[in-house]
Amino acid sequence: MVHNYDDDCIFCKIIKGEVPSYTVYEDDDVKAFLDISQGTPGHTLVVPKTHVADIFAYDADLAATVFSKIPAIARAVKNSNPEIKGLNILNNNGKVAYQSVFHSHIHLIPRYTDHDDFGMTFKDNSSKYDEKAYTDIQNAIKSQF
Ligand code: AMP
Ligand code: ZN
Repeated sequence: MVHNYDDDCIFCKIIKGEVPSYTVYEDDDVKAFLDISQGTPGHTLVVPKTHVADIFAYDADLAATVFSKIPAIARAVKNSNPEIKGLNILNNNGKVAYQSVFHSHIHLIPRYTDHDDFGMTFKDNSSKYDEKAYTDIQNAIKSQF
């Protein structure tokens, strides 16, 4: 992997060891460390060891390299605590999608109960869609490949 760093990026500084982190795993390609917010206990971030802003900037090789590490790190997080019953994997892209650090990262968020400190809302808007609305969106996306 090519390692490009941005001197102003907090996660690049963490990767380079200039800013401390609670690292739980690292290799030549990724670093995994505790999210300082600990949304739930064990909340971990996985970052590529090269500065890439968001998912839109990944090429296939970088994606294969980074995402192939996720299952083993997720298992380690889950196995670290018998109270962990599940895990949400989250990757925010763009300010509107709650991205606040513009070095791509994958959140591993352990889940303990229905009422722990993490929640997500998926609204069901299907009543507002007819066949044409679905196919217009389908075709707009398909035409990008
Ligand atoms: P996002 O909103 O998806 O961009 O997530 C950024 C995450 O980075 C937040 O959950 C922050 O708590 C976390 N964060 C920011 N600075 C640090 C840091 N120095 N060490 C660990 N986590 C951090
Ligand atoms: Zn960076």
